[in-house]
Amino acid sequence: QSIAQHVRAALEVIVRTIDDNVDELGRIDSIAGDGDHGIGMQRGSHAALAAGTAAVEAGAGAQTALQRAADAWADRAGGTSGALWGVILNAVASHLGDLGSPDAAALAAGVADGVRGVQTYGKAEVGDKTMVDALVPFTTTLTAALDDGSRLVDAWTSAAAAATRAAQASADLLPRMGRARTHGEHAIGTPDPGAFSFALITTALGDLLA
Ligand code: ADP
Ligand code: MG
Ligand code: MG
Repeated sequence: QSIAQHVRAALEVIVRTIDDNVDELGRIDSIAGDGDHGIGMQRGSHAALAAGTAAVEAGAGAQTALQRAADAWADRAGGTSGALWGVILNAVASHLGDLGSPDAAALAAGVADGVRGVQTYGKAEVGDKTMVDALVPFTTTLTAALDDGSRLVDAWTSAAAAATRAAQASADLLPRMGRARTHGEHAIGTPDPGAFSFALITTALGDLLA
């Protein structure tokens, strides 16, 4: 399978994960935000899959296909998280050469760039109750495990577990960023929607790697 085909398969997994959890994501966002996280992630991920698939079928390489997917996601999702997923996927794409065969280190470097990009764009720090709370432990764990010599699937699985723990822990936090900020204490006890969906997606992508 070409890297471009792997990109398409990954986008299919993301779509399936969001479709399976769309109501739950909306419910969480209705407590801690404005209720559109499920529908926004659904619009964005479906647009990303369509754009990525069209690019692959037109003969594009992995980098181009993922860039198209990232831009479609940001354009069509219509919310903060869509713009941020566009940043993440564009950063990963920038480390996937259209011709070369990217390795685990390139993927981890792309994820790390993406997390930095999200923080530059959104200005959130760990503890602000945003997706950054899951992104930072994810990238830290992924990079450390690969540096220790873990196989990609094992490193990714550990990183997804760290993201899941962090997303769950975000329930205890008071939101300080984004739309959830205005909901204040109502959001205590509910995880951050963007952190929660990021954990679901990375967990499902780990199963794809296995
Ligand atoms: P919107 O907030 O525009 O309705 P979504 O509901 O799709 O968009 O996404 C909300 C999620 O976006 C939040 O749960 C949080 O994870 C993430 N988010 C919002 N603002 C920021 C920010 N400044 N930095 C990082 N993540 C953010
Ligand atoms: Mg929302
Ligand atoms: Mg909204």
